[in-house]
Amino acid sequence: MSILPLRDKNGVVTHFAAIERDVTESKERELELDEMSRHDALSDLLNRRAFDQLLEDAFAKFQDTGEVFSVLAIDIDHFKSVNDQYGHHCGDQAICKVAEICKKVFNTSGSVGRTGGEEFSILIPNKDASGAALMAEHLRRNIEAASVITEKGAIRITTSIGVSEVVISDTKPLDLMLRADKALYTAKHNGRNQVREFEPETSICDLA
Ligand code: GH3
Ligand code: MG
Ligand code: MG
Repeated sequence: MSILPLRDKNGVVTHFAAIERDVTESKERELELDEMSRHDALSDLLNRRAFDQLLEDAFAKFQDTGEVFSVLAIDIDHFKSVNDQYGHHCGDQAICKVAEICKKVFNTSGSVGRTGGEEFSILIPNKDASGAALMAEHLRRNIEAASVITEKGAIRITTSIGVSEVVISDTKPLDLMLRADKALYTAKHNGRNQVREFEPETSICDLA
C-alpha cells in the first residue's frame, strides 16, 4: 500500500490518498521462479549452484562457530551400461529413483543436490565423517535394494560414495569436496558399491 499526502493551494496537507495493490500473485510467481532456479528439472533436487551456495554458507558458519559438517560425493556405478542396455529415458528414471531415495533417507538431516549427470552431493550438518559414513552406508544399502521399474524391465543399480568432513585447515569449501571426490575414487577403484571415508595418504615421513 502506498500513502500520499494531498495538499491545498497553500501547501497544507488536507487529505491522504491510499493506493492499495494485491501483490500476492506476483510474489508467489517470484517464489516459484526462485524455486525453479534452485532446482534441477529432472530430479527436483537442488542444482549445482544452489548446492554450492549451501556449502559456502555451512563453511562460513564453521569458520565462525566451529560447527562441523560433512559431505558425501555419490556416483552411480556403471551407469553407461544402464543407458546402453535400457536407453537414456530409463537411465533418467534410474537417476530419479536415486534422487528419491536420497531425499527420503536424508529428509531433514541433510541437503541433497544433483551436482552432475549421475552424480549427487549431500551436505550433512553437525556430523563428522564417521557419523556421515554411517548414514551413507544406510543410503547405499537402500539404493542397492531398490528396483527401478521401467517399461523395459526392472533395473538394479548401485552407487559408490566418498565421505569427508570439514577440517580447520580448509580454506574453502572446494577443499573438502575434493577430499570427498578422492574417497569416491577409492571406492570406485576398490570395486564400487561401497562407502569410503577420506583417508590422508601416509607418507614415509609420517612413519618415521
Ligand atoms: P563408473 O562406475 O566408473 O562411474 O562408470 P559409469 O559408466 O557410471 O561412468 P561415468 O560416471 O563416467 O559415466 C556416466 C554416464 O552417465 C555417462 C553419461 O552418458 C551418463 N549420463 C550423464 N548424465 C545423464 C543423464 O542426465 N541421463 C542419463 N540417462 N544418462 C546420463
Ligand atoms: Mg560420473
Ligand atoms: Mg558413474
